[in-house]
Amino acid sequence: MSNIQHTLSIIKPDAVERNLQDQIKNEFKNHGFQILEEKKIHISKEEAERFYKIHESKPFYNDLCAYLSSGPIVVMKLQKDNAVIENRKLMGATNPKDAEEGTLRKKYGISIDKNSVHGSDSVENAKIELEFFFKN
Ligand code: UDP
Ligand code: MG
Repeated sequence: MSNIQHTLSIIKPDAVERNLQDQIKNEFKNHGFQILEEKKIHISKEEAERFYKIHESKPFYNDLCAYLSSGPIVVMKLQKDNAVIENRKLMGATNPKDAEEGTLRKKYGISIDKNSVHGSDSVENAKIELEFFFKN
């Protein structure tokens, strides 16, 4: 049975800065994702703080928010069967050093903070995160 889902993907500043967005978008398409919506934006520190509120208590929160707002990002609404978990699989582990061969973070990530992509971690968070960037 099919289980079409939507999830949020972000191409982070380190990847946009290296002009990897077309390559990463092709990775999604080649893995059967449809990119339903996309936009290149530069968010403020305050917006990044709202987006990552779930990590507020973490020691890396301030750096993370400063980083996500440090340059342009590409936000995308992806669609696929089981999109949330499929995107997490394609992304790989948070730390590129631990990410499996062939994953986006292994291929493109530089470090745990500059790990090139964000992806929603649950169906519930995907809804919240998609609304954050694509409410209309
Ligand atoms: N992060 C970091 N240091 C850490 C853990 C996480 O800089 O020790 C950053 C990293 O860029 C990660 C983001 O914070 O992508 C959100 O962390 P999370 O645990 O949600 O990882 P993800 O869901 O992105 O794999
Ligand atoms: Mg996460």
